[in-house]
Amino acid sequence: MQIDLNGKVAIVTGAGRGIGREIALTLASEGVVTVVTDVNEANLEAIKNEFERLGYQGSQYRCDVRDFHRIQEVVEAVVQTYGHLDILVNNAGVAGGGPVSSLQEEVWDLNLDINLKGTFQMCKAVIPVMKRQKSGRIINAASFAAIVPSYGSAAYASSKAGVSQFTRVLAGELGPWNITVNCYAPGMIPTEMNHFAERPEKEQERLLDTLTLRRWGSKREVANLVCFLASDLAEYITGTMIDVSGG
Ligand code: NAD
Repeated sequence: MQIDLNGKVAIVTGAGRGIGREIALTLASEGVVTVVTDVNEANLEAIKNEFERLGYQGSQYRCDVRDFHRIQEVVEAVVQTYGHLDILVNNAGVAGGGPVSSLQEEVWDLNLDINLKGTFQMCKAVIPVMKRQKSGRIINAASFAAIVPSYGSAAYASSKAGVSQFTRVLAGELGPWNITVNCYAPGMIPTEMNHFAERPEKEQERLLDTLTLRRWGSKREVANLVCFLASDLAEYITGTMIDVSGG
């Protein structure tokens, strides 16, 4: 049994760094023509160089998931260039917060606009393409925070719980077109978003104690799940959220 993604075309949002970058590189290493999008131009340039160095196929676009007009331009360009679009990974995200009593409206809006509305807008733009093809894979970034409450995470956790339910509803709408919609829920993956591994030792110990496997997850472990969900091995899986959290 093997994952065969060769020749598929994918868009990965927020892929300039962190988990998204690893997803993009892992898909590309499996022969996927991988379109990397992000708001950070320096990181886009860096991953472009990495693709060239490794001989991977794909392209890079600056695209803010809050900008529906730009999203449509990118999706149109991808379909024109490659002829099809098989996989959309809605990975772009931000995490900001604080207790509700002092939470700024702008912080609430930023979390909801990028994490939840951004996911909706990307999906809306690719649905006509995938319906025409009668196939597609949509894979959204939820979070363990969507399930387990933690102090001060109301804005982020609400956005990710929204992504999780949005995924279920959309799966029901797109099933008749052979389009699956799932989400991955990472636990604690050290990235620039959270700096888990750089926190004081005592705090690290306390956090690690909450994990069944007693270790941080890696970006590659999340990317592996995304590759599985994008592959034919997962063709009968839809409308679900899969934890990649070390238990
Ligand atoms: P990260 O901050 O390292 O990377 C996020 C990327 O998204 C960055 O490249 C950033 O430029 C991009 N981005 C931000 N706003 C954007 C916008 N408006 N439009 C397009 N791109 C934008 O974060 P990460 O840790 O790699 O997280 C990736 C995803 O996984 C996020 O959705 C995050 O919520 C989720 N997640 C991460 C963890 C974790 O432990 N790291 C846990 C659970 C869920």
